[in-house]
Formats: sequence, C-alpha cells, structure tokens
Amino acid sequence: MTKENNSLNTIKKVSLISLLINFVVAIIKIILGVMGQSQAIIADGIHSFSDMISDVVLLFSAQFFSKPADDSFQHGYHKIEVIVIFIIGFLLFLVGFGTAYHAVLNLISREIVIPEKIAAIAAVISIICKEALYRYTIIEAKKIKSTALVANAWHHRSDALSSIPSFLGVLISSYFPDYYYIDSFAALIVSGFIIHVSWELVNPCLDNILDRSAPKDLIDKIYKTVLETQGVLGSHKLRTRYLGPATLSIDLHIQVDGNLSVDKGHNICGEAKAKILNKFEEIIDVIIHLEPEHD
Ligand SMILES: [Zn+2]
Ligand SMILES: [Zn+2]
Repeated sequence: MTKENNSLNTIKKVSLISLLINFVVAIIKIILGVMGQSQAIIADGIHSFSDMISDVVLLFSAQFFSKPADDSFQHGYHKIEVIVIFIIGFLLFLVGFGTAYHAVLNLISREIVIPEKIAAIAAVISIICKEALYRYTIIEAKKIKSTALVANAWHHRSDALSSIPSFLGVLISSYFPDYYYIDSFAALIVSGFIIHVSWELVNPCLDNILDRSAPKDLIDKIYKTVLETQGVLGSHKLRTRYLGPATLSIDLHIQVDGNLSVDKGHNICGEAKAKILNKFEEIIDVIIHLEPEHD
C-alpha cells in the first residue's frame, strides 16, 4: 500500500469513528433530555449533531487532498487540505462565539437557572467521549503527519472543555446555590480557549494562502545543506512556498566553478537537490538555477 493510500485510509477510519461517537453522544444527550424533561439538554444534544459537520468535511475531502498531482493541478491537491483546516477552524470559532454569547446572555439576564442533575451525567459522558476521541485522533494524526486530522482532534478537545461549565453549573447550584453564575464565567473562559484554538488553526491557513515563507531557521538549514554539496561554491535567492500545511516547494540559485562543463554543473545540481529532498521530508520540489561563481 502506498503512503498516500495509507494516510487516506487512516483519515477515513478516524473520521468515521468520530462521526459515530459524535452521533452516539448526541443521541444519548437527547434521550437524557427527554427522560429528565430538560429543554436545555435536548438543545445541547441537537447541538452535538453539528459536531458531525467537521467529521463529514474531513471524510469527504480526504480523498481529494491525498490525490497525486496531475495535468490540471500540477502542484498536487495540497491546498484542499488548507481549505479543510480553515473550515474546521472557522466552525470552531462559531462554537466559541456561541458559547461566549450564551454565557454573556446568562450573566446579563441574572436569571437563576437551576440546571437538572441529569445534565451533569450528559456533561460527563461528553467530556469522557470527546477527550478519548481527542487522544485517539491526535495519535493517529501524528502517525500519518496529517495537519487536518490534528485540527479535528483539537475540535474534540474543545468539545470536551465546553462541557465542563455545564458540569460545574450542576455541582455548584446543588452545593453553593449563591454562586450559580460561576458556570457562566467558566463558559466565558472556555470560549476564550476555543476561539484561541480556532485562530491557531486559521492563522497558518492564511499564511499558506498568502505564501508566507518558511521559518528562517529552516531556510538557514537548507542553505547549509546546499553548501555541503561537493562543488557548490555559493548559494542565494532561496524562496520557499508552502503547497499544503507541511508540503514545501523551493527554488534557489547555486554557484559553481564557471569553467565546469554543463554536464558537471548539472550533476552538482542533481546532487544538491537529492541532498535537500533526503534531508527535509516536507520539501517535495526543488528548482535550482545554476550560475558561475563570479556572477
Ligand atoms: Zn464541537
Ligand atoms: Zn544568482
């Protein structure tokens, strides 16, 4: 099985499992809500269905961004993964914004809502399932180095965190009824965290689309590798461009002895290119402009 196929299968498997668990969690919440006659928990369960959107986006897009380059898309389909991460990040922003919005509304209205005890059970189930899903997803994501899968993992952890305030709300209103508003404050803190995570996902996508260069230390390392090549006397004008989240295409000038034959010079280029491709896994394309040293 090729590396691409392997990654694709892992992404499909992990997003199917996510989809299934998110579905089960949503159903359990709705059943608990009906049993406890709590509109809030039923609403929360319906909201859980929206968590399935990220899984579906990932499930159906993976086969496109794993596709090899072809005549129409000569640099491959890596940008689709960037778009997917952007969508996951944006959905997460909406979750964070919604959480903050409800927390502020609750604080302003000063309405004392005594949560149902059964809501604590729903919250605990959510926290355990989503945290487990986070851990499973992040392990699989690192195995195949999939940034999109890492993004979805962070969505799961955000879901786990966003259930903590409703759990706190039940506990606090049961034991310290005077501090009923603390869960709204907790929800505000959690929403801040979720919005931060969403920015961490969206920001690199913007850098990617705008062709921000690779970090300076990577550029220094590439120069160093090139200069280690036998026959290379100098190198400059290195430019980098991210095709996908961790997929880099670079071009650079190298200088060699001007009296060498075209054949010799070309061989040196080939060696420098092979060295770079070997050493830096994320670099998939190298274009070298050859010139005599005095240039
Ligand atoms: Zn969610
Ligand atoms: Zn030059």
